[in-house]
Amino acid sequence: MAKRDYYEVLGVPKGASEDDIKKAYRKLAIKYHPDKNQGNKEAEEKFKEATEAYEVLSDGQKRQAYDQFGFAGVEGMGGAGHDYTNVYRDFEDIFGDFGGIFDSFFGGGSRRGGRRSASRNRGSDLRYNLNIPFRDAVFGSKVQISYSRHVSCSSCNGSGAESGGGRKVCPTCGGSGQVRRSSGFFSIASPCPTCGGDGFVIDNPCKVCHGTGVVQKNQKIKVTIPPGIESGKRINIPGQGDSGPNGGPAGDLYVYINVEPHKYFERDGADIYCVIPISFTQAALGSEIQVETIDEKKIKLKIPPGTQNGKVLRLKGEGIPYLHNKDKRGDMYIKLRVTIPKRLSSREKSLLKQFAELENPVSNPSPIPLANL
Ligand SMILES: [Zn+2]
Ligand SMILES: [Zn+2]
Repeated sequence: MAKRDYYEVLGVPKGASEDDIKKAYRKLAIKYHPDKNQGNKEAEEKFKEATEAYEVLSDGQKRQAYDQFGFAGVEGMGGAGHDYTNVYRDFEDIFGDFGGIFDSFFGGGSRRGGRRSASRNRGSDLRYNLNIPFRDAVFGSKVQISYSRHVSCSSCNGSGAESGGGRKVCPTCGGSGQVRRSSGFFSIASPCPTCGGDGFVIDNPCKVCHGTGVVQKNQKIKVTIPPGIESGKRINIPGQGDSGPNGGPAGDLYVYINVEPHKYFERDGADIYCVIPISFTQAALGSEIQVETIDEKKIKLKIPPGTQNGKVLRLKGEGIPYLHNKDKRGDMYIKLRVTIPKRLSSREKSLLKQFAELENPVSNPSPIPLANL
């Protein structure tokens, strides 16, 4: 197979900045990474190709040589795919700020890699999915939730060591906290499974928590739902995630909100929509109806004579409070649906017939644009 131009491989122009090259490679690496495409030869080839291109184009000297002399310029400089070690060391650079994607990509745990040593003992963040009724989202509420989290072990005060026990250098990683994992043609540093990246293991582990310093516990807390919240929004509760192993700080709890649908109200941001049926005589002659708002207020609404089907009326300020300014509210929109009676009494029928005789019927109506509906 003929080799493709490195710029073409990464999909960047010749003058691309270092940053653009990194971004382009990151995208491809995530897409074609062997861990995500097991047994897929084509993905593996693409990954190798992109990695090789990146290795050359991310190195100023190699890039210059390649720009001047093409593939010949970088041959023997480690650019032809023999030596991946440098690139894989850079993986953490490339993905380090990538949080979630990096984690799922390497099956979790990578966050505890060496670069984040300051917080490698931090407990995990937890996610809780909370369904709330439509009205709670409008007016806010307090909801008690119950979930299970790691808390510091009281038997060993979170140290993981039985009283009198100490810490010793981890025999697996020799104290570095990292092991190199190889998967086919590449290798990457990952946190040591024995010590979890700490570099130390407990000599005489606590019998209650088996040396982890944490135990599983059910917990109940009250979550304050602010007025105006919408589906998909998340409420952060700091420090209520898992406690960190061996006395590390706790992660956060993220409560993801899902608002249940209302029987007849719908919302769009801070505005509320509903459909109200009126009779064709109400529409033709005009009338006054009563509508109930989300506050359960009853408001009189004038239907002007000659109202057409689909007409939208607005009640200002009867919508939903703005999330960050609850004194301000959206509007309520009422769409009128003119209904035609399906059954008529004989008296209604004869009156309507009289009406029909007075009408000027259009026997061959011509179409109107859909927008006029
Ligand atoms: Zn270790
Ligand atoms: Zn313990």
